[in-house]
Amino acid sequence: MAQAYHSADIVFAERLLAWWDKHGRRDLPWQKPRTPYRVWVSEIMLHQTQVTTVIPYFQRFMARFPDVHALAGSELDEVLHYWSGLGYYARARNLHRAAAVVANELDGVFPETPDALQELPGVGRSTAAAIAAQAFGVRAAILDGNVRRVLARQHRLEGPVSSSNTQKQLWRLAESHTPRTRVADYTQAIMDLGATVCRRTPQCPVCPVRETCQAHAAGDAARFPQPASRAMKRLERRRFFVLIDPTGRYFVERRPPHGIWGGLFSPPERSVDEPLTRFLAANGIDADLVDEVRTGATFRHGFSHFDLAAEPVFVRLKAAPAVVRDDGGQWIRPGEHALGLSSLAATLLDADAWREAS
Ligand code: SF4
Repeated sequence: MAQAYHSADIVFAERLLAWWDKHGRRDLPWQKPRTPYRVWVSEIMLHQTQVTTVIPYFQRFMARFPDVHALAGSELDEVLHYWSGLGYYARARNLHRAAAVVANELDGVFPETPDALQELPGVGRSTAAAIAAQAFGVRAAILDGNVRRVLARQHRLEGPVSSSNTQKQLWRLAESHTPRTRVADYTQAIMDLGATVCRRTPQCPVCPVRETCQAHAAGDAARFPQPASRAMKRLERRRFFVLIDPTGRYFVERRPPHGIWGGLFSPPERSVDEPLTRFLAANGIDADLVDEVRTGATFRHGFSHFDLAAEPVFVRLKAAPAVVRDDGGQWIRPGEHALGLSSLAATLLDADAWREAS
């Protein structure tokens, strides 16, 4: 880590901390108590997700998995169930794997240094620093989306934010701004500033560090950070067969462990070229069992590299077939199961989706 710590950096940190003492978010559930386990879970949940969304998930998660041993000793399906709706499910799978490492190989004790924390599955450089700073008071710089925005504007950093050159400059600035004392508070403070003041539309008149902000001085804060040039995302069409039995149960199958919604359950996903007759035959379902078929409206779902166009086919059956030829498939009743469902599955398994299909 760079050791340079100049008077401008001190002024920045002092102003930020003075603001945070008055206006910061100091009653977040993971701050009371601020244990390594709670900080770690919160940091993973907060990736790409806002605090207000995370809070109820965090509280439910802590009630069910109060410590790293409880999490390590649980089934992945149950962890995914408690994660359902938060998205980015690789986070939950990595959390479960990392819990096993801490519980079984480290006697339940979290490492204290960023380097050692980064050895845990799913813990990157900024997350490791956030845990080390907040749980152990170690001086370590974070660089999440909020911090990136603040620093890019403070220094009017030109260049696409995802380029390696800009990233290097941002890390250098993040390190030099991080103070030697009150590191845990500073870490929370700069995240809070990005989340509540230096937002996409910046609230410069109430910003505690506006006097040092170059973008504010130039009047072009909204130009920073500069986005990467976007390639056109591809569109992928997929068909989802939603089987419903006469008692209102739905058939779901486990998705492959990797890829979108990896390891979660959803109605069977197939190629858009797969006709219903072939799907039924391939799964050992007698076509005479079909009572009614409806086509649902196409759902669009954006992922980082492509957009999914999900085309649902709802199939109401006269009776649940004795066997559906699929490994790991289950009939479930919405609201009465403990499986992790993809967000699309939760939408398709809603009675309204069937009613609105034609
Ligand atoms: Fe962001 Fe405005 Fe504060 Fe600069 S002055 S850090 S642009 S809120």
